[in-house]
Amino acid sequence: MNDMIYLDNAATTPLSPIVIEKVMDIMNEQYGNPSSIHRAGRTAKTVIEKARRIVANTIKASLGEVFFTSCGTESNNMILRGAIRDLGVQQIISTKLEHHCILHTLDAIVSEELAEVIYLNTDQLGRIDYNTLEELLKQSNKKTLVSLMHGNNEIGTLLDLEKVAQLCEEHQAFFHSDTVQSIGFHPIDVQTTKIHFLSGSAHKFHGPKGVGFVYINGEAKLNPFIYGGAQERNMRGGTENIYGIVGLATALAEANKQQIKRRKHIEGLRQYLKQQLDINFKDIEYNGDQEHYLYKLLSVSFPPSPKADLMVMSLDIAGICASGGSACSSGAEHESHVLATIHPDSPRKTVRFSFSYLNTSKEIDILIEKLKEILQ
Ligand code: PLP
Repeated sequence: MNDMIYLDNAATTPLSPIVIEKVMDIMNEQYGNPSSIHRAGRTAKTVIEKARRIVANTIKASLGEVFFTSCGTESNNMILRGAIRDLGVQQIISTKLEHHCILHTLDAIVSEELAEVIYLNTDQLGRIDYNTLEELLKQSNKKTLVSLMHGNNEIGTLLDLEKVAQLCEEHQAFFHSDTVQSIGFHPIDVQTTKIHFLSGSAHKFHGPKGVGFVYINGEAKLNPFIYGGAQERNMRGGTENIYGIVGLATALAEANKQQIKRRKHIEGLRQYLKQQLDINFKDIEYNGDQEHYLYKLLSVSFPPSPKADLMVMSLDIAGICASGGSACSSGAEHESHVLATIHPDSPRKTVRFSFSYLNTSKEIDILIEKLKEILQ
């Protein structure tokens, strides 16, 4: 895939070479079952605990507050359902702009009559109104979980975590943030920002697919999500995915170490693409908050035209991977629920470009040339 230009890093990222090397080493050397008490088991267990320390240090959590899961989706399911079952949550406040793993879980929660769900309105930039959230929290006498994503995976709008955390603390609500898109890119410190639950997924920061983690604050303890053995401190039975866990921790350690350098590079690409689009095309619009944003992502709306309608496919034919909204599990292009919420009747065609440290400005130049060819 050397001749391909990959600009869909919000969907997933390529594995970093350091991760591949480390995971291969572990695959070769660590075949022990981490639950076994002999040497092979003990060393495998140590490897997992080292990985846990890396995750805990990243967000300034303690070791006992980090649990490995199979993905961001599982982490989010675990939190929403666990908060109702174990913490007496009767009401969840969220938005219609969350990832489907939140929205569909909330739908199930409502249809099973487990809790009430309130969706906050969002504006055209995908922002919530913090005053409305405060009013809701003030008025409610129900035990509440606020579940709001940190960085929107389709339009990039960033939530003010600090502000929501403060409101939740003032009104004794639990706070969960889906941080799948922001972990490893934007610093998060659970010591200074009072969050009860966070979720992460390795494949968004150059780690392997099929492994994630959840942070559960020590004051918001949940019962097991998967019953079985005593793995993950009883929270999730099943022999650990040691290769995935090591891959996740290696990728996260690398993301932390390189964060400032990578950010400068990636944000530079985002700015460069914006500038080039503005120079070369008329009537371009950008989706999402352009002041507080996930710097790895740029959601661009082109004026409606038959050529624009086929843009993602035409780019693909030209060897450029981008997304029409977000990656979807069926592989088909669907209308995005996020775009449909913020711009309900817009006939414009939106393409999401998302970058990694591996992209170059030369690739942006090629993209611009291809877009000119496609739209001419
Ligand atoms: N939450 C957000 C914001 C995401 O962007 C994604 C993946 O696209 C997920 C959750 C789900 O993560 P995973 O693919 O690990 O299940």
